[in-house]
Amino acid sequence: MQSVAEVSIDRAINLLSTRKEGLSDEEAKGRLASVVRTKRKKKDGFFFKLLAQFKDLMILVLLVASFVSVVIGFVQGTTSEVVDGIIILAIVLVNSIFGVLQERKAEKSLKLLEKMSSPEIFVIRKGEIKKIDVQNVAKGDVFLLEEGTIIPFDARLIDSENLQVDESSLTGESVPANKNHNHICPQNTPIAEQKNMVFAGSVVTRGRGVAIVAKNKEESEFGKIASVLENTKKDLSPLQKSIKDVGKILTYVILIFAFITFLIEVIVRGNPMQAFLTAIAISVAAIPESMPAVITIIMSIGIARLAKQKAIVKTPHSIETIGACSVICSDKTGTITQNRMKVTSVFCGDANCLDKRKSEENLLLKCMSFCHNVRTSKGKFIGDPTETALLEYVRLYNFDSKKIFGKRVCEIPFSSERKMMSVVVDDGEGKNMWTKGAVDRVLSCCKFIQKKDGIREISEQDKVTIMQNNKLFAERQERVLAFAYKKIQTDTNEANLVFLGLVGMTDPPKRGTKEAIKKAIKAGMKPVMITGDHKDTALAIAREIGLSSDEKSVITGIEIDKMDREEFENRIMSFSVFARVSPQNKVQIVEAFKKRGHIVGMTGDGVNDAGSLKKADIGIGMGISGTDVTKEVADMVITDDNFSTIIIAVEEGRKVFKNIQKTIKFLFAANMGEILSLFIATLIFPNLVFLLPVQILFVNLITDTLPAIALGVENGEKNFMEEKPRKRSDGLFSNGTGKTILVMGALQTILTLLAFYIGLVNYGSEVGATMAFYTLNLLQLFFLLSVRCECGMFKSNIFKNKMMITSLVFGFGMLFVIAVSPLREILKLSNLPVVCWGVVFGLSLVVIVANEIMKRFLFKKTCKKK
Ligand code: ATP
Repeated sequence: MQSVAEVSIDRAINLLSTRKEGLSDEEAKGRLASVVRTKRKKKDGFFFKLLAQFKDLMILVLLVASFVSVVIGFVQGTTSEVVDGIIILAIVLVNSIFGVLQERKAEKSLKLLEKMSSPEIFVIRKGEIKKIDVQNVAKGDVFLLEEGTIIPFDARLIDSENLQVDESSLTGESVPANKNHNHICPQNTPIAEQKNMVFAGSVVTRGRGVAIVAKNKEESEFGKIASVLENTKKDLSPLQKSIKDVGKILTYVILIFAFITFLIEVIVRGNPMQAFLTAIAISVAAIPESMPAVITIIMSIGIARLAKQKAIVKTPHSIETIGACSVICSDKTGTITQNRMKVTSVFCGDANCLDKRKSEENLLLKCMSFCHNVRTSKGKFIGDPTETALLEYVRLYNFDSKKIFGKRVCEIPFSSERKMMSVVVDDGEGKNMWTKGAVDRVLSCCKFIQKKDGIREISEQDKVTIMQNNKLFAERQERVLAFAYKKIQTDTNEANLVFLGLVGMTDPPKRGTKEAIKKAIKAGMKPVMITGDHKDTALAIAREIGLSSDEKSVITGIEIDKMDREEFENRIMSFSVFARVSPQNKVQIVEAFKKRGHIVGMTGDGVNDAGSLKKADIGIGMGISGTDVTKEVADMVITDDNFSTIIIAVEEGRKVFKNIQKTIKFLFAANMGEILSLFIATLIFPNLVFLLPVQILFVNLITDTLPAIALGVENGEKNFMEEKPRKRSDGLFSNGTGKTILVMGALQTILTLLAFYIGLVNYGSEVGATMAFYTLNLLQLFFLLSVRCECGMFKSNIFKNKMMITSLVFGFGMLFVIAVSPLREILKLSNLPVVCWGVVFGLSLVVIVANEIMKRFLFKKTCKKK
């Protein structure tokens, strides 16, 4: 069978059983349903996951040991060993079920993410242009290609204009390939030379086109690309990596401690089985093996929370970095402003340029209606908001489109570098070039001016008047475009043009931007506005949103280009508004801020912004106006293109980092308390039983993962957005984390040993061990209450964190149940006299007092403000 590349457009349409105006929704649905989708790897069920929890070596050893204990118990007829074995099994099982439930939670949030970041594309369905999810596009669907589109299918072109496609991911060819719908390929043409086809995984670098899906997603290269993406997403973030490294070191230290404990117990007590179980239990309890998983869960919860607030963070690393952002560079149009342009001012070279009676002859209106790439679907304009605003304005003049019909011969496209565009149109009477763009650029191409009585050479005075009007419009926050034209024969140079007029469009700031800017400044960040627009327009907007009112804080792209690099880097902090910038300038801006030690977030929408997005610490893609390419390279995509959403993301990022540090404080201090108290007790009282293996495992059950996750979803301090951003060098143990672990870990050890000693001296070793058990549990739960908040423990509402309440109720509840039920005997604990309970509670509460005092020193500055 002939391929669609080898036949004419009509024949290709036939072969793909479609029409130029596209399929209907029902047809597409039917075709999609009939496609046998490649089955996704079946997710493991609950039991598989449970089994996977047991792949940890320590857990396996523990299971085997407890099994051996049960067998020995049976053989020797000693029930206590059987019970020990069964309890250990039960605790390990409950712990593993917790593990699976957490994993499921993390998976659910990742799935939501996957769904939200699925790309969309414009298709034509029964003549109507619609934006739909790529997943819902069927074979035979007609879709539109524009600059920046990442093509998700192999498709046959049926229309194209200056279309250039980067196929390097497919062919290795780095120069973009020119495409033409009219081309017909000879048989067996290699992919790189199929000019009438576009392929999955390539990117439109220039121009536009219309194509029909020839191979759906599954058959094309897209699957491969998707799997590459999936793999990259799984990379560990630096924070996760450093946690893993610290975890490794701790594991060795704990194993050494456990081994020494084992040796002492064997030598002194002569019970190798018991000694072995103790050593394993302590390893299971103290080794932070669940730490990386807990951190991933905290990060994915943060990511899911952000997704609900319209920011899609692609990797865990990004949520960590965004929290440390100290400079946020934002585009003006569409991010700070609404991108809902409306023409509000017009200035003409010709005084009567907008005469309503004969609008079709009006050259300015003609220029507006020729020079654009807006599509119309069901009377609605779809395209660039600037151009749409112009067409809406033209519509007010009851323009008779039939009278101004013309055939477009060619286009010199708009780009952020050129800041202007031109089209050549043949209206039957001859060819004209119609140009529009930034005033300075267009005016520099004009030699003439259109006056009521004809064309004459443009004078210096004309230029002064034009620039005065430009300034006037710009100071009213308007985006100003200049229009020009010329009759042409053969040349298509944008030179010797005839100036027609200026049009000013308002684009008011989005609601909430002013407040978000204020918040960013309060949070110690530097918000920066970057725009392709005129200096005066930019400054007027900056004034309104409270970004800057100082003219000296504005710099233009040309000024940057003239400035020596070092000087620019030295002065970078004095600028808040960058006007008339090119994509290259954006890269320079990011570099300069980074040089000054800042962590930079940069927004972008156009294809050319990919460079600066990559350079930034956090590339922020725009969900609505952004091209596929920018969304692809971005670390975070804002689905509502809103500046305030970026600030929300920073807030969430800061929260995540703080919560991770709280979790680390809690877990490491607890681990230190457990291992040191056991080790020291074994050294000091080698003949006495301190904590039994089941008891150690029990402490681990109620004071490990559940509280760790609860800390991970803490809401944060009330005004932590008033603190300065974290420094690039600030690691895991910054912000008092390391100090807290050391002090609180040592304190927990001392208090547990003290409880043992008081019990031992007054009531004997069994009561002493029971008191140590309860103290070790209670002080960890009390520490949890205090560590959840950096300021006073009652400063933030605990009832907002359901997980925290659950883990506290579970912890205290279990301790209560043990104290009053037969479980006490099973765990070999004594019945404590009331006075001992008083001592246990008294000692445990010391943790709260100590940590509260410590917090006062560590977070003095932050908490004073509250
Ligand atoms: P911002 O950088 O604030 O988001 P932007 O991305 O819209 O703004 P560009 O698209 O680079 O900036 O536009 C820069 C200048 O180019 C505008 O100020 C305007 O003068 C001109 N311009 C914008 N759109 C068009 C267009 N479709 N045709 C011709 N000129 C345009």
